[in-house]
Parts: sequence; C-alpha cells; structure tokens
Amino acid sequence: MLTKQQILKAIRRMNRRREPLNITAVKRSHPELIEAVYAVKPFWGWKQALKDAGINYARIRVELQEYLTCEICGKPWRNLAAHLTRKHGVKPDEYLMDYPDAELVCEDTRAKELRKDNRPVPHWEPCWSREYVLDRTAEYHRRGYPMHASKFSDIDNSLVQAANGYWDGWNEALIAIGLDPRKLTQEAYRQLCIYRDKEAVVQGIRQRLKEGLRLNPHALQVKDDRRKGHAGLLRSGIEFFGSWDNALKAAGIDPEVVHQAPKPQRKYAAGLIPNAIEDNR
Ligand SMILES: [Zn+2]
Repeated sequence: MLTKQQILKAIRRMNRRREPLNITAVKRSHPELIEAVYAVKPFWGWKQALKDAGINYARIRVELQEYLTCEICGKPWRNLAAHLTRKHGVKPDEYLMDYPDAELVCEDTRAKELRKDNRPVPHWEPCWSREYVLDRTAEYHRRGYPMHASKFSDIDNSLVQAANGYWDGWNEALIAIGLDPRKLTQEAYRQLCIYRDKEAVVQGIRQRLKEGLRLNPHALQVKDDRRKGHAGLLRSGIEFFGSWDNALKAAGIDPEVVHQAPKPQRKYAAGLIPNAIEDNR
C-alpha cells in the first residue's frame, strides 16, 4: 500500500497535469489511489489529502459522467430505474443488491441534485459517493458538530440518508472515520441529562457533592449554565426513587441538611436585612 508521502506526490502530479480530482473521477482513473487514501489510519480522507497536498478543492478540475452503464446489458443510460423495470423486469433496489457498487443515476444528474442541497456545511464534491459520505462526516466532526444520530439528523439529514445508502447506516459511517457510536450515545445521554438507572443517579448526586454544587431542588432547576443547574438529575432522581429526598438518602446524604443549607452569594450579609425588616414591624 502507498505511504502518505507517495500519495501526496501522486496527487500533486495529477494536479499539475490538470487531471480531474473529484472523487468519482479519480476512482475511475486511479482507483488504487482512492483506496490507499481511505486505508490510512487514523482516518485521512480525500478532502484532507488534497489539503495536505496544498491543493485548493474549489479549483480542481471536475469530471462527471453523463451516463452510466447498465450492469445487466452494458448499455449507457442517464437514469437506469425505468430501463431496469421495463427491459429486465428488475426493481431498482434488487439491482442494487446484486451490484452494491452500482448507481441508478449518472453523475451529471446527481450533481444537479446535490447543488440544490443547501446545508450548514456547503458541498465541496459535485456528487455523492461512498468516500464523500465519510469525508463529509469527518468534516462535521472536525467542526465540532454533535455527531450522535439523534442530534445530527437535525443538522444535515441528507448526509444521514447518504450514509444509509452508501454504508449500512449512520453508525457504520461513524465507525469508518474512527468514531465510536456507543461513546457518542453515552455523551448524548449525558448532555440530555438522562440517567439510565438508580446507580447513575447516585453517581450524579455524589459528583455534584464533590464539585461543591448545591443539591436542593431549586438549585438543580436553575437554567443558568454558570450556576450549574441539573434538572435532568432531579427528574431522574424522582423517577427512579419516588422522591428527591429518597434519591439523596440513597446517596448517603441527609435531605434535611440539603434543604437547610444557606443560599450562597447574597450581596448583603446573610441575615442582616431580614432582621432589619422584622425590627421595623
Ligand atoms: Zn440493461
């Protein structure tokens, strides 16, 4: 297999010769190069490889095929779906099962579709491919977007659909770029403040205690990030233990002490003003 340096050299040479550098074109002209790029671990990808080669993706030469070949009869078509049904009595999804790497629509038409697909991260490849799905997933990850399926489908659902088509679903695409879907699920749960069982609630209470954060229901429901509310912990505590006091007891904490703890950060000295009001009565 080619080394990274050899790959970069080959890419620069192709660029000097003004050879097309979009993924589907390179897969036709130099399939071994694409294969080598996607075999690099940790995930590298074509986008990053071009960047490392000092090439501006926006200025590469692009080549798109205006037809594709029917794998059954070898004839060229722009769109295979109708032809498959009419000529071969084969449904498009059956055809794709028989020829997993095949496409139903030619690159030129697919590129026209993709130009209409307006997303937070603009498209840089002219049309979808198995590799572009990975590059795009990796790019969102680099930009710090939440990658868990539950959140990501709201961000760029067309990428999730492409991952379903070209890979065995979103999680397979995540694994292919070196992410662990299970870890992402755990993170998503934490961010949603969902506690899955009693033990997790107890851990959450002890963690708060360790951080010196208040444990009374009012403090937990604070929405201000700096004051570190944690409504999910309260909700889960009540759900699993029947009441918040029971949850505190399970964590070895006396609920009375929690409820009596003085409120911190008053601007006036604690106790002074309430007394003064009483004196005036
Ligand atoms: Zn045919």
